[in-house]
Amino acid sequence: MSNDTSKHITLIGAGLAGAVLATLLVQRGWSVDVFEKRGDPRLKGYLGGRSINLALAERGRHALRLAGADDAVMQHAVMMRGRMVHFLDGRTDLQRYGRDDSEVIWSVHRGELNVILLDIAERAGARLHFDRGLASVDFDARIARFADPRDGSTHEAPFVSLVGADGAGSALRTAIATQAELGERTEYLGHSYKELEIPPSADGGFSIEPNALHIWPRGRYMCIALPNDERTFTVTLFLPNEGDPSFATVRNGAEARALFERDFADALALIPNLEQDFERNPAGLLATLYLDRWHLDDRAVLVGDAAHAMVPFHGQGMNCAFEDCVALAEHLDANPDRAAAFAAFQAERLPNARAIQAMALENYLEMRDRVDNDDYLLQRALERTLAERHPGRFMPRYSMVTFQRMPYATAFARGQLQRELLVELTRGHHSLETLDWDLVDATVRERLEVLPV
Ligand SMILES: Cc1cc2nc3c(=O)[nH]c(=O)nc-3n(C[C@H](O)[C@H](O)[C@H](O)COP(=O)(O)OP(=O)(O)OC[C@H]3O[C@@H](n4cnc5c(N)ncnc54)[C@H](O)[C@@H]3O)c2cc1C
Repeated sequence: MSNDTSKHITLIGAGLAGAVLATLLVQRGWSVDVFEKRGDPRLKGYLGGRSINLALAERGRHALRLAGADDAVMQHAVMMRGRMVHFLDGRTDLQRYGRDDSEVIWSVHRGELNVILLDIAERAGARLHFDRGLASVDFDARIARFADPRDGSTHEAPFVSLVGADGAGSALRTAIATQAELGERTEYLGHSYKELEIPPSADGGFSIEPNALHIWPRGRYMCIALPNDERTFTVTLFLPNEGDPSFATVRNGAEARALFERDFADALALIPNLEQDFERNPAGLLATLYLDRWHLDDRAVLVGDAAHAMVPFHGQGMNCAFEDCVALAEHLDANPDRAAAFAAFQAERLPNARAIQAMALENYLEMRDRVDNDDYLLQRALERTLAERHPGRFMPRYSMVTFQRMPYATAFARGQLQRELLVELTRGHHSLETLDWDLVDATVRERLEVLPV
């Protein structure tokens, strides 16, 4: 740490949020040290353990553009135009996400993304310290203690402020909780996930449609698959922890094969190493983390999953974490009083985190249970028609979250209003042809203000 501490800051975690935040702060003239528990993935290869690929959307891309990382990341991204729904009888249906190819999401490899972001942060001037896991914090003396996982040795670093970008199991959060009541609660979903792989086809290409997020909805459970640029797909099986089927009844490769034979037959044909993948890969827990407070005066603040981990069904955890980074950098720029900047950051972001957490939970039901349901499909057809007839006034919630940058809380509130309208307008109808369009248009104009985009 240099002698001038007025613009020095210490980040814990060089994952997705840590690397982006480091870059944004260095660009604004901050002196940034980043401490990361794992080894440098650029030297050792990425030792992930968590989801292999992620859906990147507009909010995340906006932050990457500001960090000067978007071009490099997009070179490895695979476009996903919509959901390819795989029905039990083998039929498929592509449900587009947006109006055209300007409204799509992108599949990116977590490890590749992390490596690109670390390179950019380091080139910008951030000091990255690997093999330094935050172990404890002396907040009075402003000293952080780190353990080196290779030999258990401990190291100390003085700090002015700590930023916890250390993920859902944040050690900084645990340390802050010894000083202040955070109102922390974790709600487990009662469902877990396991990753499997679809390799390239015999000719080296993708073995199913590459430009889609594939979903096999089966009521209480589902599979999804996202493409990787090396022509593979990462398949994620989501199952309850209890009941039948669940991770309590599907316990080994043979039981997984039996489940796939019955419920995911077309996917099974694509996963040659199902048994090995199932037995080798750990089951990941899914939970939502709520805190009432994200900072300790001017000494520490939390961002990304450390502050608000969410279930992955809207594909927004990383996108939201990147949006946090932009907001925190802007508040730190605007306010020389760090405690005030952290408080303003929390005031802006906490309600929005709550909104996307709620939408992510709702989306699980939608993905696993509703995408093949007739009422839902009619409401969705009306949603699309209204979006065309009333652009700027009616926008599908998915679009507000995924293709726009309006606050999540706005998208959430507006989405509820629109959903009530869709249910009301389609009640008693089986097709859009029987709707009274004059009434429909008048109702939309009366109930929905023009959107703030
Ligand atoms: C199955 C699954 C699918 C997902 N899909 C999507 C998706 O499609 N789109 C999307 O936007 N989001 C998705 N997410 C969410 C996304 O993964 C997270 O929101 C995102 O990784 C959060 O970034 P982060 O930097 O806050 O935390 P992380 O990415 O978890 O990074 C934390 C970093 O801190 C380090 N660290 C941990 N402890 C310490 C310590 N004590 N000291 C120092 N360093 C430490 C870790 O090693 C890591 O590098 C998904 C999540 C899951 C589980």
